[in-house]
Amino acid sequence: MRQSKTFIPTLKEAPNDAVVPSHVLMTRAGMTRQVAAGVYSFLPLGWRALRNVMEIIREEMDAIGGQEFQLPALNPREIWEETGRVEAFGDTMFHIKNRDYVLAPTHEEIMTYHARRVLASYKDLPQIWYQIQTKFRNEARPRSGVIRGRQFIMKDAYSFDVDAEALEKSYALHDGAYRKIFDRCGVEFFIVGASSGAMGGSGSEEFMVRSDAGEDTVAHCEKCGYAANVEVAQSKTSPKKRDAKSAAVEEIHTPNVRSIDELCEFLKIDETQCAKSRVYVAGDEPVLVLMLGNEEVNEAKLEGALGKAVRPGHAEELKEITGADAGSIGPVGFKGRVVADERLKDANNLYSGANKNDYHLGGIDLKRDVEKIEYADLRFALAGETCVSCGATLDVFTAIELGHIFKLGTKYTEALGANYLDENGSEKPIIMGSYGIGVERILACFIEGSHDEHGIVWNRALAPFDVHLLGLNMKKPAVAETCEDVYRRLSEAGYSVLYDDRVDAQAGFKFKDADLLGMPVQVVVGERNAKEGKLEVKVRKTFERHDAPIADVEKEAAAALAKV
Ligand code: ATP
Ligand code: MG
Repeated sequence: MRQSKTFIPTLKEAPNDAVVPSHVLMTRAGMTRQVAAGVYSFLPLGWRALRNVMEIIREEMDAIGGQEFQLPALNPREIWEETGRVEAFGDTMFHIKNRDYVLAPTHEEIMTYHARRVLASYKDLPQIWYQIQTKFRNEARPRSGVIRGRQFIMKDAYSFDVDAEALEKSYALHDGAYRKIFDRCGVEFFIVGASSGAMGGSGSEEFMVRSDAGEDTVAHCEKCGYAANVEVAQSKTSPKKRDAKSAAVEEIHTPNVRSIDELCEFLKIDETQCAKSRVYVAGDEPVLVLMLGNEEVNEAKLEGALGKAVRPGHAEELKEITGADAGSIGPVGFKGRVVADERLKDANNLYSGANKNDYHLGGIDLKRDVEKIEYADLRFALAGETCVSCGATLDVFTAIELGHIFKLGTKYTEALGANYLDENGSEKPIIMGSYGIGVERILACFIEGSHDEHGIVWNRALAPFDVHLLGLNMKKPAVAETCEDVYRRLSEAGYSVLYDDRVDAQAGFKFKDADLLGMPVQVVVGERNAKEGKLEVKVRKTFERHDAPIADVEKEAAAALAKV
């Protein structure tokens, strides 16, 4: 492609709101432009790279028997009502003025709608259906460029099986395909056990890339490879030790003491002597959650333990539930379910709220004073704690989720009545899996991990072009003629070539642009070299360069590309 005729609007500076490297570089390299918060256009260079990602995905999905669909983004609202997900997605779902339609944030509903009509018998199963298609989510905080958009492209696949055992097979196929896709794209990923969130279902795993731009936090053990989203990650911790003697419960007047910090300051005690109380509502049942004073409630684990969605109690309803406002709430005398973190197991001599404003209790013995208390792991694993699988030390860091594979089970097929007849003629719901990949995220994560101070450093698989051919002074016939010849020969040899044939651009400007755009190999034609029958070959990643005979350019390009 001739650069003089190609729209690649490079920029010296990135816009102020671009903070993470991939956002900065995709903007500066003329790959993307923002249209509105979280809404991006892909310009020709960016779209070429994104198409490379999609081709890799297609090849690997087809290799496991996936069949490509293209579903509508505009969906009848009614079908989303049937699965209860208009409510589940809440504000994240885009509604349009015509109340009969929504913009699809994912496609379990529509895929199941098709399955319901055609997958009638066990003979029709298994199926793997996928698509690469635009999704709409009204993300509360779109940021980091295309990493979190309000419109984005997802590869979403769905498996349909007869039973759990068959689902395992479909799930394993996707797991394998995903590893190949991310390997081929050149992103360094790891896999974590995850919570299944609003999607429902049993097992699920996320494919993650370590990155400061990430919004997920994961616990990872370098030694044994244990990795899990902190929403579900476990660590080996010891429960708080039970004192030999339990003191009697005493009520303490604590005026204006609202937080654990204030309580510790007021009573000159340590946080670990306190039981922190948080009121949640699960369904319509109030639940008091107790944590060791210095720890936070892990709501994903709480939902797992209770088996239902929870929400923190509103400030206004606390008094009605407990008899006190936030800051004075505690387990003794609480009317309702009390669930405590395992570290508090049978702990005594604790301080907590008295369920009476401006009062706390001391000498609480959870075994003695709180009837029917339940215990569960409700805390966040922290960096430096001990790995549950091997005993080494856990690291905790941020990461970006590239893909997610779920064993959905029958949530959607039951809601929408997608049943099949088994060998004995009895009707059963189809067992589903769903498998997503963020297409733009692959591209952005690749750039997060592969750039330098000059720009992007593409690998061969994702590069918009294999070779960047630079004609340094196009006004000189020797240069122009050599470039035309090299451009034709490299193209004929099967390489994709971006040819900087711009007549008015200075050499320094062309070099800067080429390093910013980051094609794996640069072939540079200058006047003196051209007259001597030579050109320069440069590997973008290492800046390794050497002169070579023009006659050898195909061989030289192959050798240089083999180094990336
Ligand atoms: P996140 O936790 O980052 O919001 P998610 O759990 O909502 O992701 P899924 O519903 O599993 O994501 O979607 C499948 C894939 O789509 C994700 O693994 C991610 O790569 C991509 N994805 C999800 N939301 C966005 C978004 N707002 N912008 C770009 N890609 C996204
Ligand atoms: Mg999300």
